[in-house]
Amino acid sequence: MAVPLLDLKAQHATIRDDVVAALMQVVDQQAFILGDPVTQLETEVAALSQVPHAVGCANGTDAILLALRALGVGQGDEVITTPFTFFATGGAIHNVGARPVFVDIDPRTFNIAPSLVTPAITARTKAVIAVDLFGQMAAIEEVTAAAKGVPVIEDAAQSIGASRVVNGRKVMAGEGASIGTFSFFPSKNLGGYGDGGMMVTGDDALFEALMKLRTHGSRRTYYHEIVGYNSRLDALQAAVLRAKLPHLEGWSAARRRNAAYYDAAFADLSDVTTPYIEPANTSIYNQYTIRTASRDALQAHLKAQGIGSNVYYPLSLHLQPCFAYLGYTEGQCPEAERASKEVLSLPVYPELTTQQLDEVIAAVRGFFGR
Ligand SMILES: *Cc1c(COP(=O)(O)O)cnc(C)c1O
Repeated sequence: MAVPLLDLKAQHATIRDDVVAALMQVVDQQAFILGDPVTQLETEVAALSQVPHAVGCANGTDAILLALRALGVGQGDEVITTPFTFFATGGAIHNVGARPVFVDIDPRTFNIAPSLVTPAITARTKAVIAVDLFGQMAAIEEVTAAAKGVPVIEDAAQSIGASRVVNGRKVMAGEGASIGTFSFFPSKNLGGYGDGGMMVTGDDALFEALMKLRTHGSRRTYYHEIVGYNSRLDALQAAVLRAKLPHLEGWSAARRRNAAYYDAAFADLSDVTTPYIEPANTSIYNQYTIRTASRDALQAHLKAQGIGSNVYYPLSLHLQPCFAYLGYTEGQCPEAERASKEVLSLPVYPELTTQQLDEVIAAVRGFFGR
């Protein structure tokens, strides 16, 4: 039996009636732009994130872009971030006219190394973007301290509902930064049936700015204080997401169970490094990402056995052709570069059966002759 990397149909089958009913309510009301489902979802995601404000937008990339704009980042500014992330993090910095400054990662968590942030700060630094990669929060309190008063954006596209204990208190993904950003891309843990995104903040002024930015810089129709964007969350997407949200915690727990099952099954394989989750963190395992020196051969072996896997990410952002103008060369972020050659993400979605997990395990162990 083939095991895909992700099976969205399996999840849809478990919630179909609720989702279809929620969609039809919006269709029957013919109220597609913002409105009740969006406002209600904003309230629910703000509560989940333990912050007063949430603002829906068109996608997770726009969420970063609007967050940067709300913080006043623009032409000539610098933004410090990780090079080991989905392209959107760096692309949004470029698209507001600022310069991405890439600092290396902690090789165990794949998240930005807090100790490298302070040395990268210059007079032009206007923001730091930490990314909560693969479902595990970055060391947000350490990044914030290292930022020395420069605002921090937390790109939590892969980590909605993840948490981290800081000084005995549970901090939710998105909560510990000036602005946290989420994506509802279908493959995220809370995925819509199309694109969607959201920003969360505890700051009233930033909330006002984000609300304005998503509707062409206006809060009063046809009066524009700044030039913003058309970046709204669709009511249809919000309706789907509201139907799915009550399941998020259970799905994330199932991913953690699957991850623990793999961890135990791979424990004796010296050629495989299983994911490292910091003791303070509760991961939502958007990905279960192993490291191995024989990554490409392992992936080919899995493919031949009908098992899905993927490489997130094969080329670090500081080495992307579009960022050649920044002047980075190989060796400047060695841990990110090494990770990009060794990582492989395996199926970890909540609906996996024990039989499917065992198939993945047998295929991985078979490759290493164990
Ligand atoms: C998915 C993702 C984004 C972008 O989200 P979209 O909704 O696809 O625009 C940004 N950052 C990270 C880390 C992501 O994984």
